[in-house]
Amino acid sequence: MTASFDFDLFVIGGGSGGVRAARMAAQRGARVALAEVLGTEGLGGTCVNVGCIPKKLYSYAAHYAEAFEESHGFGWEGEAPTLNWTALKHNRAKEIGRLNGVYGNLLRGSGVTVFDAFARLTGANGIALSTLNEDGTPGHQEFTAKHILIATGGTPHVPHFQGREHVITSNDIFDLEPFPQRLVVVGGGYIACEFASIFNGLGAKVTQLYRGEQVLRGFDDEIRHFVAAEMIKSGVDLRLDAGVVDIRKTADGLDVVCDGGALVKADAVLYATGRVPNVEELGLQAVGVAQGAKGEVIVNERYQTNVPSIYAVGDVTNRVQLTPVALGEAMVVVDQLFGPAAGKAARGMGYEFIPTAVFTHPSIGTVGYGEADAREKFGAVTVFRSEFKALKHTLSGSSERTLMKLVVDTASDRVVGLHMVGAEAGEIVQGFAVAMKAGATKAIFDSTIGIHPTAAEEFVTMREPVKT
Ligand code: FAD
Repeated sequence: MTASFDFDLFVIGGGSGGVRAARMAAQRGARVALAEVLGTEGLGGTCVNVGCIPKKLYSYAAHYAEAFEESHGFGWEGEAPTLNWTALKHNRAKEIGRLNGVYGNLLRGSGVTVFDAFARLTGANGIALSTLNEDGTPGHQEFTAKHILIATGGTPHVPHFQGREHVITSNDIFDLEPFPQRLVVVGGGYIACEFASIFNGLGAKVTQLYRGEQVLRGFDDEIRHFVAAEMIKSGVDLRLDAGVVDIRKTADGLDVVCDGGALVKADAVLYATGRVPNVEELGLQAVGVAQGAKGEVIVNERYQTNVPSIYAVGDVTNRVQLTPVALGEAMVVVDQLFGPAAGKAARGMGYEFIPTAVFTHPSIGTVGYGEADAREKFGAVTVFRSEFKALKHTLSGSSERTLMKLVVDTASDRVVGLHMVGAEAGEIVQGFAVAMKAGATKAIFDSTIGIHPTAAEEFVTMREPVKT
């Protein structure tokens, strides 16, 4: 490590990628600093504060509503309790605060110098921090670092239209006051679908508006249609080919005017129409860091920008926007710059077979290629499919159905796509993702003994293809 710079690594952004990189680098003996504009409260970034974690907590909360209802079929009696939104928000905030503290302790415990500051690049090795002095006046500090890692993440993007000032984004939804009895969700991506399901479960009347012909572009087509139908069945008023032209404030809330003139009345309108990289005022242009069309930082396969001392990982690169991906990328950077952990080989990062879940109700779990993409990549594919009512719902009274699907490369027999809509899909698919990374064939799936009685066993008992 060189002493001619203030730090060996300066990380900008205390989210998933930044915290992991800073901590791991410090553990390797590097002199590391990290700046987080939101201070301690921001540590953990989008995922911890306004993403994965609070969303999953609210998803759990939403599941109770159906659980109370379904319990009657199992002999439980009594009226369903009502939701105390204030208590849910309070408990969530307390847990997130605890996590912020854990992140801070992990960083400081590893020897990372943490700055409560907005960071800006001033050169290939220079960083300027805008801070607040103890008396509240603006402060300024400058540092040098041998390597700089940009891990500033992304932020929700709301397009320009009439009435834009009345909408909220996923950053605002968790603390909304009061609870929106009528919620309009605009968008068709996974975040829009998740919030539509969650607030529907929590008791709001949810209308989801999406311009396209089906939600969840990029997922297997059959999964998209299936989950959309299940969401509608559970009460979400999903309207496709429906854009918003105007939002007006009225005495009774908000009037959302759609293409074609349809009017939806709402207490809140959540725009979940995409995210953009957080690059404003970062000094990228001044330093000559190359950016893509959305402003994302362009990196090579080593996460290095065109300025060799500057790296970038996570959402700011606008690639696969998932926490485990940002973590994986961060660890690759640390291994490259400071060497792998003792006794371990340097890590690489593969973008094929990244498993993911969508916490709709019911949820989606998926890994590998959708059917159409698999046909394009592999040519001949064999498709196996199973659709059924889960055992639980034989007594619960729920009409929810489960779909499982395998896509097999016919030539090699390798399972190249595994998709599910149903309860705990993410928990189920994670394990199968290991098998698929290892190149498991359909013959191996067939020779695997199922766990009975589970829904997951269907993945190893599908015998007859439905399509070739
Ligand atoms: P972030 O976690 O966004 O962290 C960036 C940090 O940098 C922020 O704390 C920001 O304040 C700080 N910052 C920005 N600019 C500066 C600056 N100039 N100076 C100092 N600090 C700065 N992913 C999943 O894997 N599973 C999920 O279930 C999931 N659900 C999600 C739900 C929602 C609603 C959203 C919005 C996202 C979800 N994600 C999920 C995506 C996940 O949160 C992101 O992929 C992940 O947080 C990206 O990590 P990051 O390190 O790139 O950026």
